[in-house]
Amino acid sequence: MIPFPTVDGLQALDERHAVFCERIEDPLALEHGKFHFSAKDNLCARGFQARAGSRILKGYRPPFDATPIRKLREIGGLLIGKTNMDEFGFGTFSTNSGFGIPRNPFDTERCCGGSSGGAAAAASLIPEHLSLGVSTGGSISCPASFCGVIGLTPTYGRVSRWGLIDYGNSLDKVGLLTRTARDLERYLPVISGPDAKDPTSQSQPVLDMRGEVATVAVPAEALVGLSPEVASSFAEAVKELGRNGVKVREVRMPSLRYAIPAYYILATSEASTNLARYCGMRFGVMNHEFDQGFNDFFSETRSEDFGPEAKRRILLGTFSRMVGFRNRYYVKALQVRQLIIREYRKVFESCDAVLTPTMPFIAPRFDEIARMRPLEMYQADFLTVPPNLAGMPHISLPCGYSRGIPIGMQAVAPQWAEGSLVSLARSWEESFHYRFPEVTA
Ligand code: GLN
Repeated sequence: MIPFPTVDGLQALDERHAVFCERIEDPLALEHGKFHFSAKDNLCARGFQARAGSRILKGYRPPFDATPIRKLREIGGLLIGKTNMDEFGFGTFSTNSGFGIPRNPFDTERCCGGSSGGAAAAASLIPEHLSLGVSTGGSISCPASFCGVIGLTPTYGRVSRWGLIDYGNSLDKVGLLTRTARDLERYLPVISGPDAKDPTSQSQPVLDMRGEVATVAVPAEALVGLSPEVASSFAEAVKELGRNGVKVREVRMPSLRYAIPAYYILATSEASTNLARYCGMRFGVMNHEFDQGFNDFFSETRSEDFGPEAKRRILLGTFSRMVGFRNRYYVKALQVRQLIIREYRKVFESCDAVLTPTMPFIAPRFDEIARMRPLEMYQADFLTVPPNLAGMPHISLPCGYSRGIPIGMQAVAPQWAEGSLVSLARSWEESFHYRFPEVTA
């Protein structure tokens, strides 16, 4: 029998780590279900608000379940709460949240990563828990690595996005954060598959959970700019994989260096159009009487309820798509995206996966984050953004600890080859011992 968390336990956990923005508070409600799971706040679920970490969606209660949530509920899953995140997924540390900044399971002075920070913390802190996360440019891998759990981002289109509050529609993917490969084996087949409500999920090969990672490619470009502890843990992990019989090959992937600028242009371009609907009329809170001109009403609501990072991205995305600049930025970034896809495909002709560290440093402290400039924050995603641009499945696995803080490595597989990543997770956890914080929820 799976241990279910208690209401008091969850509350204590929230007081210390700010994992949830809304959770079950009725002890009786916690007695139902075959297993428990949580969902990132940008996934719609009956019975909970869905605010995507944004004040502009305060009070929004969707009367339906996002497809992955519906499927988990149908097999007896109990949704215990919605997890804290960066507003609309805009961030790398979950510090851009309108409803609480999650704190790292291993050190509360440090962040959880983002934007699925609360989801990773929940998977790390609550035994036998499944967290649903969402990645646009690395938001499953990054927090999984900072919180010491497994984070699986499936191929774009594998899991239906119906019921997900969009960030960048050509990039968004729903995935899983867990402590064990067994949970991936159990729940990935449940949430995957075609869904008539999301056309991009409609044509996909059947999920094959076999597959193997026998050869990995390590791009030289991924080994620069790492902190010493990440560099040495990763080198150790690569050696360990070698001892387990995995062949390791060094490759060059020169276009990876263009991934960050291309991603931030494409993602913000899509985001700025998605956010246009939140103007306080059909979508978004209506704080004021409608007794003024539409433009004034609209600007007031958006000025008050979008956070600074959302505003920055609206400006950047609108600019990149503007007549006169579109070819130079948006269209150029689309070309870079193709280049990166081609480069991965070339490497996959002779390897099963591309292996890199997940993040260039361990979870930073909040005072360090406060001193970072936006561009430095964006740059931190240089290893997690490329597979997201390519729409290829990837997994982050714990591979080391520095001063007790987890370090992760990331494997990227060809489209639709999630099965090989799950088998890598299974064999890796047999040789590397994961640590989880001591808490009882
Ligand atoms: N850190 C990246 C961003 O801010 C990725 C976030 C995500 O995947 N949602 O856009």
